[in-house]
Amino acid sequence: MPASTHAAVVMPAADAPLRIDAFETPSLAPGAALLRTLYSEVCGTDVHLHHGKLDVPFPIIPGHVSVGVVEATGGPLTDVEGNTIKEGDVVTFLDVHETCNNCYYCLVARQPTKCPRRKVYGITYSARDGLLGGWAEAIWMKPGVKMVKLPPELEPETFIGGGCGLVTALHAVDMAEIRLGESVAVLGVGPVGQSCVAFASLSGAGEIVAIGAPRPRLEFARTMGATTTFDLDVPEHERRESARRLTGGRGVDVVIEASGAPEAVRQALDLVRDGGRVVVCGHYTDNGAVEVHPHWQLNRKHVEIKGCWGSRYDHFHRAVALTARYGSQKPWREMVSGRFTLDRASEALHAVEERTAIKAVIMPNPGLV
Ligand SMILES: [Zn+2]
Ligand SMILES: [Zn+2]
Repeated sequence: MPASTHAAVVMPAADAPLRIDAFETPSLAPGAALLRTLYSEVCGTDVHLHHGKLDVPFPIIPGHVSVGVVEATGGPLTDVEGNTIKEGDVVTFLDVHETCNNCYYCLVARQPTKCPRRKVYGITYSARDGLLGGWAEAIWMKPGVKMVKLPPELEPETFIGGGCGLVTALHAVDMAEIRLGESVAVLGVGPVGQSCVAFASLSGAGEIVAIGAPRPRLEFARTMGATTTFDLDVPEHERRESARRLTGGRGVDVVIEASGAPEAVRQALDLVRDGGRVVVCGHYTDNGAVEVHPHWQLNRKHVEIKGCWGSRYDHFHRAVALTARYGSQKPWREMVSGRFTLDRASEALHAVEERTAIKAVIMPNPGLV
């Protein structure tokens, strides 16, 4: 029998101090479940939320990608493969919910990540709606939320180490259509950039150049598969010339922008070879504009540039399978560099903002892990 109330971190408004409130246990309709939270991540989006840079229904319970143990269900539940999900199973879930499959973007454009009806745990649900964020002792799985069981060989900490960056990176690498042996540059070495490097390497890329800062993150990118790294203190023209030397003087086949810096988009267009591909996935909030030169950087270059927004269930499903298969080769688990209980959630946000942790995680029930 679940406890009658559960503690959760509440972000009351932009730039307001976090607090902890108690929430009633939801009654579980058929198809619903209650998770006892093991881990919920803290990502750059949470920092943006706290600074009011995204339009969300404050107060909210933050935490979009999480792992938990099924504590109770509202009746029989199965995953997409027909396997039973039962009490005691360790699961994660697609934080995006209620994609309608009934609108222009879902059905005609077939771009479900642009469905206007989608809801996201920890972001677009208000705390008034209940336990719908991961920085909480328990998370309410509403009917229809897509849960994925973590296979026994996948440590929960390995999956959460990748976190939502893992899923974003998989979508971006899919869009980049990396072919065997192609050169790839990844701009930005935060959680998204690190997973882009790992997936580029698993895709059979040749030279993989990681560009970013600080230096320990560049060193970590090497363990993810980067073959060359450039610190941002190397002047830009030197980085560009070095990348050219590595690629027969042409420039890089594929550039993935995962930094969130507007300047990086312009740099990506300078690094890519003629006829190459650029994927932009680092700009989840408005960090400002940048000037591009349409003749030299786009038209004459015959370059393909794609923006990557959100992720779908298929990315999420494959991200679980990929971390299970390759978690011993690609050290996602070691990306977790800060672990915080609910009462220290402010410190966790600060660690991510100050980049002292690549990935901070909230552990609402530290006795369970
Ligand atoms: Zn829709
Ligand atoms: Zn995130």
